[in-house]
Amino acid sequence: GGFLDKLTFENKKFYLKQTTVKALNEVSFSIKKGEIFSVVGESGCGKSTLGRTILKLYSPDKGNIYFQGHRIDNLSPKQMLPFRTKMQMIFQDPYASLNPRKTVRQTLEEPIKFHQPSLNKKEIKEKVEQVMQQVGVDPEWADRYPHEFSGGQRQRISIARALMVDPEFIVADEPISALDVSIQAQILNLLMDAQAERNLSYLFITHDLSVVEHISSRVAVMYLGRICELASTEDLFSNPRHPYTQALLSAIPKLGETGLKHIKLKGEVPTPINLPSGCVFHSRCPHANERCKQEIPTLLQLQDGRQVACHGVEEKRI
Ligand code: SF4
Ligand code: MG
Repeated sequence: GGFLDKLTFENKKFYLKQTTVKALNEVSFSIKKGEIFSVVGESGCGKSTLGRTILKLYSPDKGNIYFQGHRIDNLSPKQMLPFRTKMQMIFQDPYASLNPRKTVRQTLEEPIKFHQPSLNKKEIKEKVEQVMQQVGVDPEWADRYPHEFSGGQRQRISIARALMVDPEFIVADEPISALDVSIQAQILNLLMDAQAERNLSYLFITHDLSVVEHISSRVAVMYLGRICELASTEDLFSNPRHPYTQALLSAIPKLGETGLKHIKLKGEVPTPINLPSGCVFHSRCPHANERCKQEIPTLLQLQDGRQVACHGVEEKRI
């Protein structure tokens, strides 16, 4: 078995008044220990929902989540406690994710006081300072409030908060996309350094394919709550097979020059409240046929090990 083993969801339904929104469907994969697994897709494709569901901030209606061999989707909050320290989340917006009324020290002490009540004051203080140092925030600033820090520094503090409990798995949901371009690389490097030093596993959620190519070993491409393609980063970028992956990659200038012509998708992403029949991508796919309009493609494993959900690939016409 893997690290985050057999994570499968058949459904995650959201209720908007009378309307049911199916947010995730037949999403299934596992993440290995020490792996950076990226989930990429446009906004609204379900990637944040996926990350939050794995951490049980949402619960799936059906399907299972296994963590280090333990099934966790059915655990009560109390039963979840031992897993809570091992699984942390870093959010997109460092302005919204820190409590403005708490000093950095209070923010960082909170999770460790809760999860490691046996530590004494001195040990807690040392740990706060050690982790602040690791993320590049001067420990002398521990008694300051979030508003005294820049966006990049706040994201460093958010990362420190996640690291305080010595996690093994982190869901990073667009952790650099709200930041100034000039500091995105610094924060990305910090995340990579922390990953390497602690052999962390990441589920890295992003819409930015250049980041994906840079950091991850495997990638899942999502569209309207489903995985279209799941492959090693190398395979995905050198030879995308799903028409949606092809369109996404063709929009990166570097790749556009070397082969893939820019593929312009027709129309808009349909609303998840009224999902298209058959393949959810059929209304925008340049290769759609009658079968695509009626039959939902399943995620099939190809010979090279990647998984693709597409009738056209299965029929060998793409
Ligand atoms: Fe396009 Fe059909 Fe493949 Fe969907 S199943 S991506 S519509 S070819
Ligand atoms: Mg999101």
